[in-house]
Amino acid sequence: MKQVTERFLTYVKHHTTSDDTASTFPSTNRQLQFADFLAKECREIGLQDIAVDRYGYVMATLAATVEGAPTIGFISHMDTSPDAEGAGVMPHIVEHYDGGSIPLSHISITPEEFPVLQNYIGDTIITADGSTLLGADDKAGIAEILTAVAYLKAHPEIPHGKIRIGFTPDEEIGRGVDFFDVEAFGADFAYTIDGGEIGELQYENFNAAHATITIKGKNVHPGSAKNVMVNAALLGAEIVAMLPEREIPAKTEGVEGFFHLVSFQGTVSSATLQYIIRDFDETTFGHRKNMMTMLVDRKKEQYPNAITLEIRDEYANMASCFKDCMYIVDLAEEAMEAVGVTPVIRPIRGGTDGARLSYMNLPCPNIFTGGHNFHGPYEFIPVKSMEKAVETIVKIAELGAKRK
Ligand SMILES: [Zn+2]
Repeated sequence: MKQVTERFLTYVKHHTTSDDTASTFPSTNRQLQFADFLAKECREIGLQDIAVDRYGYVMATLAATVEGAPTIGFISHMDTSPDAEGAGVMPHIVEHYDGGSIPLSHISITPEEFPVLQNYIGDTIITADGSTLLGADDKAGIAEILTAVAYLKAHPEIPHGKIRIGFTPDEEIGRGVDFFDVEAFGADFAYTIDGGEIGELQYENFNAAHATITIKGKNVHPGSAKNVMVNAALLGAEIVAMLPEREIPAKTEGVEGFFHLVSFQGTVSSATLQYIIRDFDETTFGHRKNMMTMLVDRKKEQYPNAITLEIRDEYANMASCFKDCMYIVDLAEEAMEAVGVTPVIRPIRGGTDGARLSYMNLPCPNIFTGGHNFHGPYEFIPVKSMEKAVETIVKIAELGAKRK
């Protein structure tokens, strides 16, 4: 049977970078090629109902060994981030890691910069060669899911319900579940295997909105501008200054929310400000949106018809989806503990595909892959963490069967 490392080393060599400037779905054709490859892997394992749809979603079934258990899904994404080079990934394997620096072609991964490396002394660590990302995000998830279902297939004596697996395109560009067919997937609940370090278990994420402020100025000769000129860029700067200066990404952590000025383009005649608004708490999230609206309204009184504000909700905290079904989170926690992994339950300061799926009636917490430093050349993953992810998935399947 193929082990998780062998699968992982094969999958990272497939170039699957997504492209946020593309208008097609999936955004890149190479993801469709990888989808076909993964369907072949599923056939090799002996899975059923293997399907690749026109969008590139791969789905497959591992049949139940016991009756009456819930159907559990496991989901990972096939694409890698467009933030770093993803072609020509050359995995670099460090056996018996000694706690020192890991020199690569142009860079070194050092314990000074990444103290977490100390947790992995003696393990085998996989990195890229320094010129690309590694792609553990999220090919580790794919390798872990396929290794786990192959193991279950080879051990029919382990009781488990029906298992559905799903591999999705374009997660890194925020479109990962745009065409995900929840009904066809047919799971009672699912887990994305897309987290970071060993033990991560996440079922809370930001509430998110995007705000666009557009300002129309009045440009006249500065020599005769008194009481006539409206400088759109200056007006924009005034609005920026009115927002709480400490509630920004660089000054918040944990469960604190923020206003983040993503871009500001301005001249005398026009200005556009793009903000993202984030908060874990639904009520304070609402307050943040109201606050921005009120501040802009105040400016509007001074400059009628010059300013427009548009706020669009992006995604919501999935925690509320688990109010009546916390056992889904508990099951993952129990499984981790059963295989000797300490669960690290922390809210995600971002969104996940699982958050959107949870609101599409497929409750879906996120579980660790074991990787670190995603989206860049410092990415690495310890083999033992991948093996623990495999064991966790197997154990979830097994414990899930007891919940009839
Ligand atoms: Zn990911």
